[in-house]
Amino acid sequence: MPELPEVETIRRDLAAHLGATRPRIARVRTSAAPLRQPPHAALAPAAAEGARIDAVDRHGKLLLVRLSHPDGPRTLCIHLGMSGRLLVDAPDHPRPAHTHVEFVLSAGTCLRYVDARRFGSVTVVAGLPGGDDLGLGPDALATPWSRAALRAAIGGSRRTIFDVLLDQRRIAGLGNIYVQEILHRAGVDPRAVAGRLRARGLDVIAARIHPVLRAAIARRGTTLRDYRDASGRRGGNAPHLSVYGGAGAPCRCGAILRGTKLSGRSVTFCPRCQRLGRPRRIAAR
Ligand SMILES: [Zn+2]
Repeated sequence: MPELPEVETIRRDLAAHLGATRPRIARVRTSAAPLRQPPHAALAPAAAEGARIDAVDRHGKLLLVRLSHPDGPRTLCIHLGMSGRLLVDAPDHPRPAHTHVEFVLSAGTCLRYVDARRFGSVTVVAGLPGGDDLGLGPDALATPWSRAALRAAIGGSRRTIFDVLLDQRRIAGLGNIYVQEILHRAGVDPRAVAGRLRARGLDVIAARIHPVLRAAIARRGTTLRDYRDASGRRGGNAPHLSVYGGAGAPCRCGAILRGTKLSGRSVTFCPRCQRLGRPRRIAAR
């Protein structure tokens, strides 16, 4: 699933492509197959027709395309779900299979939303909502993380730190890949109870969030299978992952990475490097 670094790569691609031209959305075409409906009240993609594109923002994993519409400002909200792609293309190029929404732009190009599994969403909302208006927590990249900021986001949760960092209402933008990478770099056990983490654990997590995300953005994101940038190219970060998907392989410390299941997801961690916050009942075994 695309996470913050992948969505930010697409955002930068779109912003560079649109530049200062502020193209108009001349026509919107949608397929008959329905996409997922997001929790916030929203209009169909056709409500973007006739609008000018002013800017491309992002909050967490959500792309927010700001529009000037004759009826007032609107925002095109795009969530890539599990397998969504947003491609800049020529309108006369054949549409890829699973193209669900197409925005034909006055600049002579088009934006195509392609999604084989249809877990993504493409909707329009009135006004210029921020992440909190859409039920999202603080953005993982825009927020200056500190012990206090992280503690405020986590609260006293009794869930695992792995689970809490994935919760978009607490921190927006992190998913399965980058939570595992951040916890590994921080030396924190993914099974740690979030609300019981001490100062040291919070400090190292707060210090690792930005470096892990920035390094992945610099490599244009992680492609495991589906993710592509706005030009259809793969990201280059996958070979640089330290733990994700690596159970049974050696950690850089030499210990063998271990796999476990948390909240139904496969999680990999290093039993030697990631000791901070390890629950006592596990440590005693
Ligand atoms: Zn290790």
